[in-house]
Amino acid sequence: MLEGRIMKALSGFYYVKTEDGTYACKGRGVFRNKKITPFVGDMVRLRKSGDKEGYITEVLPRRNEFIRPPIVNVTQAIIVNAVIQPSFSSLLLDRFLVINEMKRIKPLIVVTKKDLATEEDMEQMKQYKKDYAQLGYEVFLVSLEDSESIIPVKEHLKNEITVLMGQSGVGKSTLLNTIDQRFSIETGEISHSLGRGKHTTRHVELHETNGGLVGDTPGFSSIDFDEIEAEQLASGFVEIKEQAQFCKFRSCLHVKEPKCAVKEAVEAGTIKQYRYDHYVQFLQEINERKPRY
Ligand code: ZN
Repeated sequence: MLEGRIMKALSGFYYVKTEDGTYACKGRGVFRNKKITPFVGDMVRLRKSGDKEGYITEVLPRRNEFIRPPIVNVTQAIIVNAVIQPSFSSLLLDRFLVINEMKRIKPLIVVTKKDLATEEDMEQMKQYKKDYAQLGYEVFLVSLEDSESIIPVKEHLKNEITVLMGQSGVGKSTLLNTIDQRFSIETGEISHSLGRGKHTTRHVELHETNGGLVGDTPGFSSIDFDEIEAEQLASGFVEIKEQAQFCKFRSCLHVKEPKCAVKEAVEAGTIKQYRYDHYVQFLQEINERKPRY
């Protein structure tokens, strides 16, 4: 019995990397009964059925999962933003941060296009960098033209399963190419065959690079809160979660409740107003999602 990780799923085969090389595997009926679909990132057990071929017999427990794009067991996300073109959006950043906190994924914040930014843009950016650093997040200001500036990001890939997140136009593909040349060929081919700017639905694949695995996933460009309940949202904001333990009511949602320690911290300035505003906006989104009577 061999164990390994699914690196790629394509045309009905799962490509499982084991210590004995990569096996092209079929799933088995057992999955249909258990309603488990093996995904890229899964650790699986397999039985050999030929030279470098086999059957997956078991999918091991997951740390987390995404359906679109389909990838599981992600340990780290590089959230890519630009200083300008498109302008830095702390709202979008917080959206990704909430998802990462909920799914137990360590976020790295990478802000691109510092070479195109004005001094004023950079002043504002440095303030954001300070704010997010205070929350415990690492922020990297990079220029994709300057591969030296990417080195600190590459150093964080070791022993992690990393995916990229960010809206289109922030330089996700370019960042992948700069991290590892092998990505360059593939994204180049894709943009050539499908035309620039088109949404790609190609397969997801994990690549070994810089001592870790990086998912070649174009799909994490937006995030919705379908899976999150109102009571859980605060745990997506590290400083609100921290402060919430001092609220008078355990069920406090930090909006209208009396003696709310979170609102007090916002007034005192220890929780940033914009972070709180984003919390309230996301909470509203979640509440509006539910059916009303
Ligand atoms: Zn509260």
